[in-house]
Parts: sequence; structure tokens; C-alpha cells
Amino acid sequence: MQQAVQPHFRAVRCLRNIHANGSPLEKQTMTMRSELLRSIVVTALLCFPSLAAAQGMFIRPLGNEGYEPYEEWTIVNYIDLDPSSGVLDWNGGNYTYDGHGGIDFTLANFAKMDAGVPIYAAADGNVTIAQDGYFDRCTPEVVPACNGNEANYVRIQHAGGIETRYFHMRKGSVAVSVGDHVTQGQIIGYVGSSGNSSDAHLHFDVYVDGTRIESFLDNNETAMNEPEFFWGPNPLDYIPYPTDRPGSLDSGVTDHNPSTPELRERPDEFAVFPLTDSNDPNYWIQLHGIDGADWNWIRYEWLSPDGTHDVTHTDSIGSIRYGWREDAISLPDAAAASDSYFGEWEVVATLRENLIGGNVLEVGRVNFTTVIPGDINLDNEVDMSDVLAFVNGWLYQQAQGDLTSWGKGDLNQDGKTTLEDAYLLHEALLEFGSSTAALEALGAAVPEPASFALLFFALLFTASFRRRK
Ligand SMILES: [Zn+2]
Repeated sequence: MQQAVQPHFRAVRCLRNIHANGSPLEKQTMTMRSELLRSIVVTALLCFPSLAAAQGMFIRPLGNEGYEPYEEWTIVNYIDLDPSSGVLDWNGGNYTYDGHGGIDFTLANFAKMDAGVPIYAAADGNVTIAQDGYFDRCTPEVVPACNGNEANYVRIQHAGGIETRYFHMRKGSVAVSVGDHVTQGQIIGYVGSSGNSSDAHLHFDVYVDGTRIESFLDNNETAMNEPEFFWGPNPLDYIPYPTDRPGSLDSGVTDHNPSTPELRERPDEFAVFPLTDSNDPNYWIQLHGIDGADWNWIRYEWLSPDGTHDVTHTDSIGSIRYGWREDAISLPDAAAASDSYFGEWEVVATLRENLIGGNVLEVGRVNFTTVIPGDINLDNEVDMSDVLAFVNGWLYQQAQGDLTSWGKGDLNQDGKTTLEDAYLLHEALLEFGSSTAALEALGAAVPEPASFALLFFALLFTASFRRRK
């Protein structure tokens, strides 16, 4: 076994004045299915946010009631309070960069942006600027020309001379117009990376009587300039300082060591590994809020289906405001591998003793080029385990909003999971006599999320049959 760990550090940046996705410690081990259900629940909550949480003037402009802070986003930068070339955030830390003015709420990657993360009006007010139409996938590597572009953004004027500004929105997402009255919690747009931006994030500004202020800084001048005024009586309960919530926003498995631009996008999920020389599983995890003084190592544990192979690597790290780490294992050639290698593996990451990421992968016997149609888990048989793998894979990709990833469910090996694959699965299921019989068997075979699986599965088949006509 070899260990391959490469760091990817960089700070989220939003370069101009107008500019600017795991999991908390308590997060439980996620199987693919539970992650799917969480995605579905999160999607539902995104559509119907409760607005009852705030006790100060503002609610969180990202992730309100129903979200824990640092699950969907992390704070990477506050206002830089150091007038010199140094950096100093309101808490005496370095969560900022030189000259930055505002709070950056950053997603795990562009896949999260594509899935859609709404931005809420922090308080009631009137829209004074609403600008849209600019390219929204700016990064330092890929689109340096973005540094000269405008951002898609919204300004809202509130009572008492207070103004909020929301920058870098997704193109076409701005949902309000100049002159609109908005109510607290109303969706005004979606997170993007337009303008001078390196990653999908919201740059949030607060102005009082025309002067930009750090809304977390208690300067004892006026009540209006104290954090309690904006965020409630316990602002750090409402939006903790990042190092109080170290963890991960996303993680995954792929078949190579991903580059930083790939990690910004989110590496293609590669959940099934035939045993060959060149297809070793690689685990990546997005990390944030890690204070090197207190949190100095991560442990990765790779566990084979029957527990025979249990590989643990430790990774010494420093402080990480926002960045990625990777770990990999080497698998033997198929001819040399015993049965104990085949099936579903799990890889989990812990920060000290706390679980911060969990993913599953499948190790199969055959090469993709010789796969049997319908043999989703690559065990040379088409059976009910393939049905379950397909449903999970299809749901997963739907939940991710990504139908282009190679992975479970791609029966015809065209790099996409689509209705074509559903049709192939239907053909394979004729082994069971009929689709109805297969659905009944599925209902008997699936444990708790059967209702979700059956619902989606039934929809798939309905669509598949319609398509054949
Ligand atoms: Zn910013």
C-alpha cells in the first residue's frame, strides 16, 4: 500500500471592493443512501426556509433555519481591520486578506453552486441596485479576465440608514428589481462566482450611513454598531467563528489525484473501481476552519467489505482556512486479488476523534470495457443488488444535479446516467419476469428509504416506457 497525499491550499479571494459545500464535527457516518436522503431534505428546506431564527436585525443571508452554519458554507474572510499590509479580522485572527471588506460565505465547489444555494434578504428593505447578466464561473486559473468584470449583485436599503450588499451572484439568478420592496428571508438570488471572484461565494457587506462596517465588531460606539444589533443577543451562537466549527463541506472518491481546478469544480464521482494497475481509488476532502494549534492531523480509514482490509493513513496538517487534502490506496491486480477485495468499501476521514467525511466505493472484477449491461456493481451478475445500486446512483446524480459523471447507473458506458440506462435496466430486469414483479421484489429488498427508492424507480420506468412508444 502506498500513501499519496498532496495539499491544496488557497484562500478564497474576492479582489475588488464590490465583489468579494461534510460537515461539522457531529456529523454521522454517511452511507451513500443517507447522503442522498440528506440532499433531498436539504433541497426541500432550500425551497421552504423557515424565517423564525433571527433575534437581531439580520438573518443569515445563506442557510437560515434548518441549516447548521458550516454545513453548506464556511466563512473564509471577514473585513481586514489592519490598515497596514498585515491582516486582522474582528476576532484577532487571520480570516481575511489584505484590504478585504466584507464577509465571504463560501461553498465547497462549483457543483454546489450549480445545485443552487439561495441568498436571502437579511432584513426588510428596498432594492436600490440589481445587476445581472455577467459570467459566473470566475476562478484565478481558468478565467483571469474576470478580474475586470462586473459582478451580479443586489443592494438593499433598510431602515435606519443601514444597507446590505450581496455580490458575485449566479448569472440569471437575480430575482429582484430596483424599487422592489423585499421582506426578510426573501430569495434575492443564488450564489455564484461573477466578477472578481475565485470561488462560488457570497460577499456580504453592511453599511451604516454610507460607511462600511464589520457587523461582528463590538466597537461600543452606538447600539447600531454592535454585533448583537445585527445578529442577535448571542451572535457567535448564530454564526460561530470558523475555527469553532472546523470540518468539511464535501468529499468524494475519484480515480486519480485531482488538480486544484478540478477540486474547485468537484471531481467526477468515480464510485466503481475495476481492479487494474491504473485505477487506484483517491479520496478528496474539502476542509475549513482548522486551527493548526489545536487540530493537527486527519486520519483516513479505508475498510474493505468484510473488514479483511483496513488501511489507515494519518495526515499531518497545519491551519487550513479553506482547502483540500487527498489520500489514496493501491489495490492489487484483479488476478492477484482475493474475493475479500470485491464489493463496497468505505472510506472515512476523522479530524482528531471527530468524523468529518464518509464515502463509499465499489471494487469490481472486470474492466469497464467488458462490463455486462446491467451489472452495475461489476460482480459479473445481474441481480437485485444491481437494481439497488442503480437506484442509489441515479438518485445521487439527480441530487447532485449532475448527469455527466461516470459512475453507478451508467449501464451503457456512455459517461452519463440517463433514461437510456433505465431502459437497459428494464431489459435486464426481464430476468425477474416483469417490471411489476421487480418492483415488488425491490419493495421487499429495500430497507428504510424504500418509499423514496420506489417512487423514483416507478417514475423512471414510467418515463422509460413512454419513451419507447
Ligand atoms: Zn469578499
